[in-house]
Formats: sequence, C-alpha cells, structure tokens
Amino acid sequence: MVDAHQTFVIVGGGLAGAKAAETLRSEGFTGRVILICDERDHPYERPPLSKGYLLGKEERDSVFIHEPAWYAKAQIELHLGQPAVHLDPVAKTVRLGDGALIVYDKLLLATGAEPRRLDIPGTGLAGVHHLRRLAHAERLRGVLASLGRENGQLVIAGGGWIGLEVAAAARTYGAEVTIIETAPTPLYGVLGPELGGLFTELHREHGVRFHFGARLTEIVGQDGMVLAVRTDDGEEHPAHDVLAAIGAAPRTALAEQAGLDLVDREGSSGGGIAVDSGLRTSDPYIYAAGDVAAADHPLLDTRLRVEHWANALNGGPAAARAMLGQAVSYDRVPYFFSDQYDVGMEYSGYAPPGSYAQVVCRGDVAKREFVAFWLAPDGRLLAGMNVNVWDVTETIQGLIRSGRPIDPAALADPEVPLDSLLP
Ligand SMILES: Cc1cc2nc3c(=O)[nH]c(=O)nc-3n(C[C@H](O)[C@H](O)[C@H](O)COP(=O)(O)OP(=O)(O)OC[C@H]3O[C@@H](n4cnc5c(N)ncnc54)[C@H](O)[C@@H]3O)c2cc1C
Repeated sequence: MVDAHQTFVIVGGGLAGAKAAETLRSEGFTGRVILICDERDHPYERPPLSKGYLLGKEERDSVFIHEPAWYAKAQIELHLGQPAVHLDPVAKTVRLGDGALIVYDKLLLATGAEPRRLDIPGTGLAGVHHLRRLAHAERLRGVLASLGRENGQLVIAGGGWIGLEVAAAARTYGAEVTIIETAPTPLYGVLGPELGGLFTELHREHGVRFHFGARLTEIVGQDGMVLAVRTDDGEEHPAHDVLAAIGAAPRTALAEQAGLDLVDREGSSGGGIAVDSGLRTSDPYIYAAGDVAAADHPLLDTRLRVEHWANALNGGPAAARAMLGQAVSYDRVPYFFSDQYDVGMEYSGYAPPGSYAQVVCRGDVAKREFVAFWLAPDGRLLAGMNVNVWDVTETIQGLIRSGRPIDPAALADPEVPLDSLLP
C-alpha cells in the first residue's frame, strides 16, 4: 500500500492528466495530488474543438472533463497557467515557471503534443492558424464564420483527421476550402489508399478541393494578411486564411532535459517518451501517458505512440494504477473516432500501409454504411473501421485480440454475424 504521506505530481492537465488524478482518488490514494498545467483553463476534451464546438453547436462548458469545483472536492491541488520548466529526477523535484519548487514521490508526465509548424516563409502572417487549444478553436470559429459570410478561401495544409474535420466545419459555414496534401489521398498513413479515397469523395461531394502530391512552400501575404499559398509543383492557390494541420509532435522537452529515454522522432512512433507496458519511463519514479508516451504494446508487440482520445482516457488511469503499485499491462486496442458531415466512424487496431495484405468490406460502401477490415498476410485481423454502422467496436476489438486467421469471405458477408467469428 502506498504511504498516505506521499506526493504524486502530474504534469499536464489534458485528458490523460485529469483522468489520472481522478483515478488516484478513486483507487483510494489519500496523499497529495498536484496537477500542473500551462493552460489557464481547467482540463478539457479536445475532440469537440474540431467538431461540435467549432460548429457552434456545443457550449464552452460542455468540453470540461470535471466541474471546476470537483478538483477542490477531490483535493487535487491545481497549478493552472504554470508550465513545469525543470525536472530533477535525482532530487525528485519539478520547478514551475513562477519559480515554485515541488517535491514529488512519483511523477506522471502527461504533457501531450503540440501542432507541428510549417517551416516556410509567411507562417507569421495573421491568417495562419493551428488547432490544439480552446483559444485556437474560439479564434478559428470566428474565422470560419467570417469566411463563410464573405465566400472566403481557407487553405488547409494536411489531409489528416483535424484537417478533414475542419474542412467539414468550414464548408458548413460556407467557406471555400482547398486541402493540400503530400500523399495521394487524405488519411493515407492510417487508412491506406483503399479507404483514404472514400474521404476524398466525401469531401469533394461537399465542395472541398484537393491538391494531392504537393507540399506548401510559401504563404504569400501583403500588409500582414494572407493572399495565397504556393506549392512545390509551382501552383498557387488563393487564400484568406491557412490552417496548418500537419500533425502533432509529442511534448518531450521536460523528459529530455531530465535525461529520460526518448524514442527516435524519425521512427514510426514519431518520438515520445519511452515507457514500458506498465507506462513507466526509464526512471522508476516517473510515468508517462497519453499523446506523449510511446509504450511497449504487449498485444501488438511493438512500441506505439497513440495520439487519440481513448488512449488518454484509459492510459491516464492505467498510469495512476501503476503509480499506486498495481500490476499494469496496458494493452488496449488503439481506437479513435471522427465525425465529418453526416459520416461518423470508429477505427480500432493498427494497420499502417505495408503491414496488411488485403482490405475487405461488409455493407454498402457507396452509401457509406459499412465496416472495413484490414487483414495481415497470415489472415489475422489488424484493424477494423465502422462507418455509419454502430455497436461493433467490441466485436472488432475481440477479433483483433484473438490473433487468429479469419476467413475474409465471412468478414465480407453481412449474413454472417460478426460475433459468430469470435473464438
Ligand atoms: C482539435 C482536436 C480534435 C481531436 N479529435 C479527436 C477525435 O475525434 N478522436 C480522437 O480519438 N482523438 C481526437 N483528438 C486527439 C485527442 O484529443 C488527444 O489524443 C488527447 O487530447 C490527448 O490527451 P493528453 O492528455 O495526452 O494530451 P493533451 O490533451 O495535449 O494535454 C496535455 C496538457 O499538458 C500541457 N503541458 C504540456 N507541457 C507542459 C508543461 N511542461 N508544463 C505544464 N503543462 C504542460 C499542455 O498544454 C496540455 O494542456 C483530437 C485532438 C485535437 C487537437
């Protein structure tokens, strides 16, 4: 049992950090819990920032993970608007931006990720945006509304989830949208060409223009305002605003400064703090969870950094249990969801291009009501995506977990209940 006089410190007040704090208390930890976050807002959920909140359909209050009063009730000491600027793993201290020194017994790094920046001329112009924080979403909401009123042009660099969701929101506001993407389809790195094309069609139907196989080289401006963007194939697109949605980089600065093991940024996980399957870093008193953690995945037998909501939701609590000395083997099947226009989807598993031998679908792909399955060369299910089909995630994850070859014909046949394929 953990000593009640201990102090557990959490750096990062996103979903992983807030859920870790909640779990420490629900598991009966009575020591001090200190949550440090450089944002001034109480911990909040990010998915609405590119969906309902961006569209003005959800209230600001709805994005917060807990009511502000909950933290005091749960005796979580909050340091908001304060970055942790130095970590000394020998003295077991964290120094905050205001100079305060906090001593910990155990520490959780839940510092998340930050938007990658375009490294080209013109990124300092007023009309260049990123989307990670509430304040970004509030600003972008105003921008989209005014582009919509004036038939303005939004150029989005990157056809990933955030780029596509913002494109859908922008079209809903009535803005003109062009997506510039280096790959041949949106979401190429996650879905591959077979299913990436589905999202091209969806967005084209809603009036989005794509420019594939190209990279932005310059944002052209005048008097501080964006006028156009240029690409490496010599094209120019008019633009009033630009959203850089080219991925996120894990916030590892503190871990790096403290000498913790990190994962190579050029590798498939895109960097991150290296943790074992119990979410422990190379320092036995420091853990990491959420977007920043690159964890040994016991089920997938690889090191994986998952930048998705469910991983923060479940990884934060798993790290909290590990901090309390419980045996933890974090082996959740990676999962994420997205909503664009009237299409909702969920994806479970991990099947980057090159890892799978075939994709089979059950249902009506043309009507966008189907489930897609990515199969390994030996017939195992690597991943499944349900599009406007619901309540199948548990079964898909069970099939992935089984690790057994599955008959592709049975997967594709809607007459064969999916459950019947479970071992
Ligand atoms: C716009 C948007 C839409 C998304 N939509 C979806 C979706 O539809 N589905 C899905 O599965 N996932 C989605 N995600 C991803 C999901 O939100 C993230 O995976 C999740 O937020 C990760 O949580 P986290 O707690 O690990 O990190 P974060 O949410 O990034 O929180 C980390 C916090 O730590 C703070 N911090 C960092 N360094 C320090 C420091 N040194 N000192 C103090 N504080 C620090 C940061 O400012 C931040 O507040 C979306 C993300 C974004 C940005």
